[in-house]
Amino acid sequence: MKILVLNCGSSSLKYQLFDMTDETVIAKGLVERIGINGSRVKHKRAVGEDIVREGDISDHTEAIKIILGMLTASGTGVLKNLDEISAAGHRVVHGGEKNAASVLVDDAVMKGIEECVYLAPLHNPANLAGIKALQRSLPGIPNVAVFDTAFHQTMPPEAFLYGIPYKYYESNKVRRYSFHGTSHMYVSQRAAEMLGRPIESLKIITCHLGNGSSLTAVDGGRSVDSSLGFGTAPGILMGTRCGDVDSAVVLYLVQSEGGTDRVSDILNKESGLLGVSGVSSDLRDVETAADRGSERAGLAVSMLVRSVKKYIASYAAVMGGVDAIAFTAGIGENSDCVRKGALEGLEFMGVKLDGAKNSSIRGCEAVISAPDSRVKVMVIPTNEELMIARDTLRLTKK
Ligand code: AMP
Repeated sequence: MKILVLNCGSSSLKYQLFDMTDETVIAKGLVERIGINGSRVKHKRAVGEDIVREGDISDHTEAIKIILGMLTASGTGVLKNLDEISAAGHRVVHGGEKNAASVLVDDAVMKGIEECVYLAPLHNPANLAGIKALQRSLPGIPNVAVFDTAFHQTMPPEAFLYGIPYKYYESNKVRRYSFHGTSHMYVSQRAAEMLGRPIESLKIITCHLGNGSSLTAVDGGRSVDSSLGFGTAPGILMGTRCGDVDSAVVLYLVQSEGGTDRVSDILNKESGLLGVSGVSSDLRDVETAADRGSERAGLAVSMLVRSVKKYIASYAAVMGGVDAIAFTAGIGENSDCVRKGALEGLEFMGVKLDGAKNSSIRGCEAVISAPDSRVKVMVIPTNEELMIARDTLRLTKK
């Protein structure tokens, strides 16, 4: 059974075609600058050279037609015909409170995603455009929506409510949702597999540290707290997002900088590693600048590391212990300095890193704690697309 997974942004589209008999990726790619001059498709196959197509692409429907054409092209295609694709899985950023799991798409589901547009105004419209475009291009196949927020719907009210008047939750569902749920679910399940223990018996802290970052407390396989919120800026310091800031700072900026749009840009696009270091939003650049003596770059890294440490310790407290800490995404998988810094001082909780192992691990699965560490520390590359393909298979097999 072959499944196409789509992840649509407002001007981009990432895709992967899986053969679910062995969960291999047959082809994958990225369409950039949809609806903007200079569109580009980069198409990779399991075997054969990458194919690049340049030329304007007006919308997601045209992008999908081009991808389907590349998948079936004579000579370079990986499919004989489109009938080989049995189903499509779509990443949808916001499912609100109604969607606590992946669902088969029907009219009611589409309406529900539309109702959540006010919660994710940049992402949900693009996700809807992708589903509609695929429905037009491959009308015969089922579509599954996999929500970034779904995994966190198990958080208890004391974790998801803010200390503001309750009526804002009742009337407009103002609450913590958090995101990256598909990644946290994949990584926690994989951690349990690697430890050879049932996930129901484990307390795991998953640290998704990338350009956008979140930590999640996963108790018995269920998310019980997570560091992103109603929006995508709180929690730890990110590439350009501020992480936790006092609400008084936000109010002050609204007054002094003139308006919410400007302050939204400051907090989401000009803050984080970039805002503090003044160098870059990319950790590699910031680490290099710090090594060359930039104090502010060093400070940005220290702030990132300290915020990760604080969340790890607080989530251990929330769960009454921790069995494993798993690092994923660009920073979590690659930066031994951030992993080391974040875990330093947590020996009192039973965390003991194997320094040499930690330094040697980049982008691959590994246990990096010392053999006698009570808490296992792991690196687990995330695979949200595979998780989406698995859910799509499960829901369309029924
Ligand atoms: P992501 O959003 O998951 O693609 O992660 C992007 C972040 O990962 C950027 O801040 C990168 O600088 C960081 N990153 C990727 N590779 C490395 C590396 N080898 N060392 C440190 N940071 C890295």
